[in-house]
Amino acid sequence: MSINFAHKEILVLGAGVTGTSVARFLESNGAKVTIADDNSEAAVRPDEINLDDFNAVVISPGWRQDHPLVMQILNSSIELLNEIDIAWQLRAEKAPHQKWIAVTGTNGKTTTVEMAAAILKAAGINAVACGNVGDTVIDAVDRNDPYEVLVLELSSFQLHWAKAAHFAAAAILNIADDHLDWHGSFDAYADAKFSILDRTEIAILNADDGAVVVRANRFTGRKVFFSLNTPAPGEIGVVEELLVDRAFVTDPQQASMICELTDVVPTVPHNVSNALAAAGLARAINVPHEAIQSALHEFRPGRHRIETIFESDGVVWIDDSKATNPHAAAASLMSHLSVVWIAGGLAKGADMESLIKRCAPRIKTALLIGTDRALIENALIAHAPHVQRILIDTPQGYIRGAESNILMEAIVAEAQKHVAAGDTVLLAPACASMDQFISYDDRGNRFAAAVRKLVAHEA
Ligand code: ADP
Repeated sequence: MSINFAHKEILVLGAGVTGTSVARFLESNGAKVTIADDNSEAAVRPDEINLDDFNAVVISPGWRQDHPLVMQILNSSIELLNEIDIAWQLRAEKAPHQKWIAVTGTNGKTTTVEMAAAILKAAGINAVACGNVGDTVIDAVDRNDPYEVLVLELSSFQLHWAKAAHFAAAAILNIADDHLDWHGSFDAYADAKFSILDRTEIAILNADDGAVVVRANRFTGRKVFFSLNTPAPGEIGVVEELLVDRAFVTDPQQASMICELTDVVPTVPHNVSNALAAAGLARAINVPHEAIQSALHEFRPGRHRIETIFESDGVVWIDDSKATNPHAAAASLMSHLSVVWIAGGLAKGADMESLIKRCAPRIKTALLIGTDRALIENALIAHAPHVQRILIDTPQGYIRGAESNILMEAIVAEAQKHVAAGDTVLLAPACASMDQFISYDDRGNRFAAAVRKLVAHEA
């Protein structure tokens, strides 16, 4: 790949955040850019594209491999580029000393990337979280005043296409069913994520996730496992009330304290796991333990990630709208003892059976919504018949994205009928939201608004 785009005709697939950012960069480097998108008025329709008109194509991560135009490109000799690799080439020119560290996994990427960036900043390093969070990678590199370290959140889609970028350290947090409709199979999805190991100096890996451990075997570079259990020499883990480091220490027979368990908020297992991964990444580039502790102590996950909306009379209302797959919803359900659970939406091909088998004892009532609610209903009938199931229909006249919040208000009103002291009402749908809401963000905001309205009404 050449970084010289001057006078080249470049086709950018996708008019979203990545495509727009890449197009801006290419144009500022003298390229002539055409953007193709099925869903944007401003872009050219993909079926109107003649590939002979272009010198190269840049694909945005969400584009499916079986899209007719993508298949045509893959069967041709035209160069197929992606944002991450273009940014990597640009780094060589603009910021050759810049380190890249990366996080991937099914869940916890954003939280971990933000934790890691906060830790590096606490250590006085000019670092930024980018990729799927914050700026695109290309915008993060394309600066006159370069960052010392980029902490990249990388999705399986990005990893599927990216081939060139190298990392000082990369963490794989976990791996479970998600986006199977895109990748075609669990193995294809896992392979995309694990391709990152071929291009990292140090791998930070979750020892508590069997699928990660098995697949990590083939990686021959330096592996550092993290775990919620007592770490073996060479690992990072938890000993009683402490997160400890036995990997990046002079004597691995000893354990050095990273921080106290209660420094990690919320102090729930999966969030501690994320903190261990972030700490591992930071240690891989020699950040001292003190900076890790002070940053984690201050850190709070972003909105819609186990966010407490309201608490009263022993009942807690929690917005975990970001739980868009069964693995995230399971982590959330297992963090609470007795749950009135709001679930359903678009399952994206994921299977709900193992979620229900694992979490059945925690679920008191399930309020089921959206297109794929029957998947969850059937799993409950099969594996947790004791759980009360309530199907909530979309109200007549409901319009996705409209100002009226009748759907979520109906859900919250129903939830209220079933709670008792000690319960958590948990929006952790295990599904994507777009059948009934604009986004997970919209779904979470509407939940919070409906809860606040209900509470205000009762007061
Ligand atoms: P991502 O960027 O991978 O989507 P987020 O940090 O935004 O990750 O969290 C996504 C969802 O997954 C949230 O519902 C969150 O509560 C849950 N989650 C966060 N970390 C983990 C983890 N390590 N394992 C399982 N679920 C997690």
